[in-house]
Amino acid sequence: MRALDVSPTALGTPEEVWLADGRLEALPLLRWTAGVPVVVVAPHPDDETLGAGGLLRAAHRTGSPITIVAVTDGEASHPGSSTSPAELRRRRPVETTEAMHRLGLDDATVVRCGLPDGGVEAHEHQIEHTLRLLLSSETVCLATWRHDGHPDHEAVGRAASAAASACGARLVEIPIWAWHWATPSAGLPLDHARRWPLDDADRAAKARAIRAYRSQIEPLGPGPADRAGLPPAVRARFERPFEVLLEDGRP
Ligand SMILES: [Zn+2]
Repeated sequence: MRALDVSPTALGTPEEVWLADGRLEALPLLRWTAGVPVVVVAPHPDDETLGAGGLLRAAHRTGSPITIVAVTDGEASHPGSSTSPAELRRRRPVETTEAMHRLGLDDATVVRCGLPDGGVEAHEHQIEHTLRLLLSSETVCLATWRHDGHPDHEAVGRAASAAASACGARLVEIPIWAWHWATPSAGLPLDHARRWPLDDADRAAKARAIRAYRSQIEPLGPGPADRAGLPPAVRARFERPFEVLLEDGRP
């Protein structure tokens, strides 16, 4: 995830507001087939864990082979920081490996595309091409929502939609930034949303996996450009006891 404006005045829709509304907890359950191969497309290292870490862990338990398509290495998360993009490009994929370990997904396949963080849109066709090689009518593709409010996330959603449709794969989209800017009554197509409940073990493993992304959890230094991209108020929206996914992300 690139740095949101997470100053104390710009923390987005608080998790308490989402939960108090009650609409999310009343969503129908996501239907799922045991053992189905899963390809999850992450624009930045951490998106796969934030949005679907619990589902990935549960799917893996039923025998699903898991492939992570790491579109960028997340080097643009801290512009102006004393930690360079080159250092972030080195650190963040290592954090993905640790996050997968904490989810029990040591045997997940990671496909690194190495596209420029913040510039994915210009390479949308390349992502679609890569996904066409990985998807089939037997696979489920999880990808960031095509209307998520971040250009990289939206480009991934569009590419995944095109590739899934060409291959006959099922597409399930993952809102990430939408939890920040949307509200329970506006922004998310909740009529297309489905809920995936997390048991205590999956929820705890997901929380541990999120913490593997230390470059996003901890400030990189004392300066304003070093601040954590995933402070507690942002993480809270991804540590709820269920995940919300979109069966058809069109508004
Ligand atoms: Zn992201």
